[in-house]
Formats: sequence, C-alpha cells, structure tokens
Amino acid sequence: CGIVGIIGTAPVAPRLVDALKRLEYRGYDSAGVATLEGGNIARRRAEGKLGNLAQKLSFEPLEGRIGIGHTRWATHGAPTEANAHPHATERVAVVHNGIIENFRELLADLARDGYLPKTQTDTESVALWVSRELDRGLDPEMAVGRTLRVLRGAFALAFLFKGEDTMLIAARRGAPLAIGYGDTEMYLGSDAMALAPFTSRLSYLQDGDWAVLTPRGVTIRDGQDGIVQREQQVSAASA
Ligand code: GLU
Repeated sequence: CGIVGIIGTAPVAPRLVDALKRLEYRGYDSAGVATLEGGNIARRRAEGKLGNLAQKLSFEPLEGRIGIGHTRWATHGAPTEANAHPHATERVAVVHNGIIENFRELLADLARDGYLPKTQTDTESVALWVSRELDRGLDPEMAVGRTLRVLRGAFALAFLFKGEDTMLIAARRGAPLAIGYGDTEMYLGSDAMALAPFTSRLSYLQDGDWAVLTPRGVTIRDGQDGIVQREQQVSAASA
C-alpha cells in the first residue's frame, strides 16, 4: 500500500524502512525491500509490522546504494512472506500498489514461454513480463514501456534492475506517485510524507505517466510515451 525508492550515495535499506514507516497510516500486512548487492538483486521481506522487516535486516543487512521498498495490502494472494513485495526475477524487482486486472491472461501467455510464477500475486505477472522483454534484448526503459502497454488496472509501480546501479523506473496509473529531487540522490514515494526526511523538492506524476530516474535527473513520459515536463513543487510536509 506504500512505495518508496532511493538512488543513493550511501546504503539505502535503513532509509527505505524509515520512509515506509511514514506510510504506515495507510495500513499494511507485510513489507519488503530490494537493493543491488554487487549488481545483483537482493531482497528482505517479512509478514506483519515493519519491525519484523527491520529485525531481518539487522541479522542480514543489505548494503546497496539503490533500492525500492513496499508495504503491502494484499488483494491477490495471502499476506505471507512469499507473496510480499518486492517481486523479482534475476533481472528485475518490482513493487506495486493496486491491482493488475489481467494478470491471469498475462501469466497464461508467459507460461507458454516458460516464465512461471512462484507466488499467488497479480504483481508477479509484471516482473515476469518485464523479464521476458529484457531476455529478448530490450533495455530496461524499452522493456518497461512495452510492459505498461499490456497492463490493465490501477497501479503505481517501481522497478529496480540487475546491473543498473543508477536507475529506477516508476509508473503511475490510478494510484499516486511522487518523485523527490535531492542534490546527489533521487527519490520516489507514494506521497510527500514518505519523502519529507529526504527532500522537499517534488514533482507528482500525472495519471498514465512513467519516469526514468537517475542521479542526474528524470525523464517523464505520458501515457502516449511522449516526453513531458511536470512542475517541481516545494512540499510543506517536513521531517
Ligand atoms: N495487488 C498487489 C498484491 O496483492 C498489491 C497490493 C497493494 O497495493 O499493496 O500483492
């Protein structure tokens, strides 16, 4: 029910958990984070309160300087650790708020190529679809762009890619998502509250928008894939 992401200059896992705490008011049943460890996707997930995730991280820390995090309010699949986000293949990790209405059709299509789900969630269809596009040779931006065209439903999404330690991709259709601008870091989150400890400079994605974030800046595209500018605002929410 909440999404955060950081392209950082220091380990991000503790800050991802802090930002998720600021989204607790939305309610959730499980939580998780993914970072890049030596270029590879690594995850920690836990049922229940964020304290359980924080405890896991204290026993098995993550050091990555880029990552995504999620608090889940289960719609498809029981609130178990296996169904907690991020969902991932070797190549991509994804966090998702909302519902992918056509996930059964997507999974049936993917199964014909041998891409099989390990969870009961609608979200895993997105991770698998992007993975298939990457396996076909598309770069992350193209792979996500093509995937967004087949998704039906309401969602906010954030993606982390194996080997891409300075890029996150975010998409919004029917669920809010904000981009936060730091001096040397970049952030994304479900709302200004989540990002308040990091920056007050925000821009809100509009419905249908998707964005490629790097430390140097953000490229935002609308639902027709045309590049658009979204006004930067100074948020009143404070740390
Ligand atoms: N539909 C997804 C799931 O059940 C995402 C739920 C959410 O918004 O947290 O895993």
